[in-house]
Amino acid sequence: MEEKRTAENTDRGISALIEKLDARHSLELGEYESLIRNRTAAALLARKASAVRQRIYGRDVYVRGLIEISNICKNDCYYCGIRRSNRACDRYRLSEQEILECCAQGYALGFRTFVLQGGEDAYFSDEVVCRLVRQIKQNHPDCAVTLSLGERSRESYQRMFDAGADRYLLRHETADKAHYEKLHPPQMSFDNRMRCLRDLRRIGYQVGCGFMVGSPYQTARTLAEDLKFIEEFQPDMCGIGPFVPHQATPFAKEPAGTVELTCYLLSLIRLICPNVLLPSTTALGTIDPRGREKGILAGANVVMPNLSPIAVRKKYELYDNKICTGDESAQCRHCLEQRMESIDYHVVTARGDIRGWRDPH
Ligand code: SAH
Repeated sequence: MEEKRTAENTDRGISALIEKLDARHSLELGEYESLIRNRTAAALLARKASAVRQRIYGRDVYVRGLIEISNICKNDCYYCGIRRSNRACDRYRLSEQEILECCAQGYALGFRTFVLQGGEDAYFSDEVVCRLVRQIKQNHPDCAVTLSLGERSRESYQRMFDAGADRYLLRHETADKAHYEKLHPPQMSFDNRMRCLRDLRRIGYQVGCGFMVGSPYQTARTLAEDLKFIEEFQPDMCGIGPFVPHQATPFAKEPAGTVELTCYLLSLIRLICPNVLLPSTTALGTIDPRGREKGILAGANVVMPNLSPIAVRKKYELYDNKICTGDESAQCRHCLEQRMESIDYHVVTARGDIRGWRDPH
C-alpha cells in the first residue's frame, strides 16, 4: 500500500516535470535523469511533443537526400562499421561527377536538400569539397547543401561555408567526456569534437549535433547530460537513432538501442527545442519496420532517404542490416512518402530550414 502510493506520487511528479519542460524548455540535470529513469508518462510526453511539432511544422515532413560520398575513414570509432581497422570493409569513394549526378536525380525526385556524408577521407580536401558545393549550388540554386564530413579545422569549415554550404551535421555522440572516451580510441578527443560544433555555430551554419541511443556504457546520467547539452547548445538539427551493433567492430556483441527509448528521447528533444529539425533516422527504421513512422509520431519532422548509387549502398555499412541498401533512389523516396501518408503526414518539396532562419550567406 505504502509502496503503491509512493509510485503514484512519482508518476505525478514525472507528469509535472513534462509539463514544466513543455512550458520552460529547460530542466535541471537531475530532473532529466528522473524523466529518463521513469518513463511511465511516455504517452503524455508523446502527445505534448506531437502538439508542439504540429504547431510549428504542421504535418509536413522535410526530406533530405543522403549521399554517402566515401566510406574511407581515418578514424577508428569502436561502434562504427566503416572504422579504419575493419579490413573486411570494401572501400569506395564517389567521383565528383557521380555526386553531381545523384543530386540531379534527387532534384528531379523533389529533394531540395542534399546531405554529403562520409568517413574522414583525406581525398575530400577543402578544394574538392568547395568545388563540389559551388557546383551543386550552381546547378540547383534553390537547394540547401548539408555537409557531414566529420572533424575539420575552423578554417576548413569557413571555406566550405564560403563556398555555399548551408548546414553541417556532426553528432556530439555523447556529452559525457568519460563516456566519449569509452566509445573512441585515444587519438580522438571529446574537446575537439565540441570545438568543432562551436566553430560551426560561430561561422553561421545551421548546426546539427546528436547521439546514439543505447550506445555501450550509456546511462540515464549520460543521457541527461546529452539533453542538458542540447538545451544549452540549441542545435538547429539533432540526429538521434538507436545504436545498432556491427559484426566487425569491438562492440559486435553489444545490444542494440530500443525504439521505445529512442522515441521517448525524440519527444523530450522536441520539448527542449521546439523548432529543432529532428530526423526519424534510418537506424530507427532498421530495428523496427515501422520505426520511422513511430519517430515522426513521437515528434520528429525530417526523414533522410538514401540517394547514393545502388552499387555502393551496401558498402556504407555503419551497422548491421542497414535498410534501403537495395532500392533505387526513386523507390526509397516513394516508399517513405507512402509511409508518411499512412500516418497522415506529408512529405513536402522544400529546403526545410529551421523555423525563423535567415540565410547568412
Ligand atoms: N564521419 C562523419 C559521419 C559519421 S556517420 C562524422 O564523424 O560525423 C554518421 C553517424 O552514424 C555517426 O555520427 C554515428 O552517430 C552514427 N553511427 C555510427 N555507427 C553506428 C552504429 N553502429 N549504430 C548506429 N549509429 C551509428
